[in-house]
Amino acid sequence: MIKINQNFQLLSDSYLFSKVAQTLREYKDKNPGADIIRMDIGDVTLPLPATVRDAMHSAVDEMGDASTFRGYGPEQGYLFLRDAISEHDYKSRGIDISPDEIFISDGAKSDLGNLSDIYAPDCMIATIDPGYPVFTDTNVMAGRAGVETNGRWSNIEYLDCKAENNFLPPLPNRHADVIYLCSPCNPTGTVMTRNSLAEFVDYAHKNSSLIIFDSAYEAYVTDPSLPGSIYEIEGAKEVAIEVRSYSKTAGFTGMRCGYTVVPEQLMGKGANGLPVSLRQMWNRRQSTKFNGASYIIQRGAAALYTPEGKRAVRENVDYYLANARLIRDTLLNLGYETYGGENSPYIWIKSDKGEDSWTFFRRMLHQCRISSTPGVGFGLNGEGYIRLTGFNSSSNTREGLRRIAEMKINNE
Ligand SMILES: *Cc1c(COP(=O)(O)O)cnc(C)c1O
Repeated sequence: MIKINQNFQLLSDSYLFSKVAQTLREYKDKNPGADIIRMDIGDVTLPLPATVRDAMHSAVDEMGDASTFRGYGPEQGYLFLRDAISEHDYKSRGIDISPDEIFISDGAKSDLGNLSDIYAPDCMIATIDPGYPVFTDTNVMAGRAGVETNGRWSNIEYLDCKAENNFLPPLPNRHADVIYLCSPCNPTGTVMTRNSLAEFVDYAHKNSSLIIFDSAYEAYVTDPSLPGSIYEIEGAKEVAIEVRSYSKTAGFTGMRCGYTVVPEQLMGKGANGLPVSLRQMWNRRQSTKFNGASYIIQRGAAALYTPEGKRAVRENVDYYLANARLIRDTLLNLGYETYGGENSPYIWIKSDKGEDSWTFFRRMLHQCRISSTPGVGFGLNGEGYIRLTGFNSSSNTREGLRRIAEMKINNE
């Protein structure tokens, strides 16, 4: 037997979603025919925009014709897509990001994990709690996390997001080399303000830290006073990598396409103490371990930047946002303490009875036939909360809310 990467043995089983699924199965077995409404969906439900489908059909035809066939593409992604991103996602919003600083991938999750290749094994990590489990688990796999006691790793600094700070991350209390942020945040639905983001950029400058900014939900930011990109903050290009995805924006969860921005100015410290370009390192990493995203998928993604594509993205996002806002407004009216649901598809709800997350989850299931996601699955600070999403249909969302209102009356 070969000796394994024993860091994997440190990981606890990722049981959140499997335990939710198992609890739902057991409930259905006992209550056959129960019309459960899924308000825990962390996936999009609307189909791909027609223009994306058409662009991919044409790309398939090109691949089947000797005169237009393409083999391996550039590891960094095709220039037609990187140009479109640079122009429409950045330059048109006053942010100067060039196509050379953009790397197309098969999704944000891969990039978030792979980025761990380019910084040192002994870097101190800071991450938001509650947060996307990928931030922590990939660093455990890489051996950076130390030892776990009561759900917390010794070498990870937790940025405690709580009701007291409106679920916005505070600066690290001890030195952090790499800081993971997510805005709009999954699971809490909160969006970092310009000021708060500027404080992190300032911290990173003073502490020689790298910020990894997950903005998978950037398209949900409709309030112009809130930042969609970290590069809206002055000085961010020297300290931040931005990771984006077409998954939640354009129905691409099953397509697999996203991108990561590593600015020219971003430097790390090499063995001799001299600066090394992280952009060049990431380019080397991708060229060695990745052969680029599919041409067909990249053609589909490029179609999102046409006027028709932009309109379709706006319609999809607005549909989910309307559901999220309705959930938020209804729950607030019913007296629930809620966060998010504006500029985000997620709504974060505190139990009105002071229950723990799983008890609140079960009450929602038994009394409303609604499935939710227990907040504690995203970190210790999630205890006592559940997450609902705006990804179901508008009619199911309305029916779910009617049941919650009924439960509230019956419980009082
Ligand atoms: C869904 C999600 C991702 C993953 O996106 P993919 O591009 O589908 O891999 C990344 N970050 C957060 C916070 C997400 O919720």
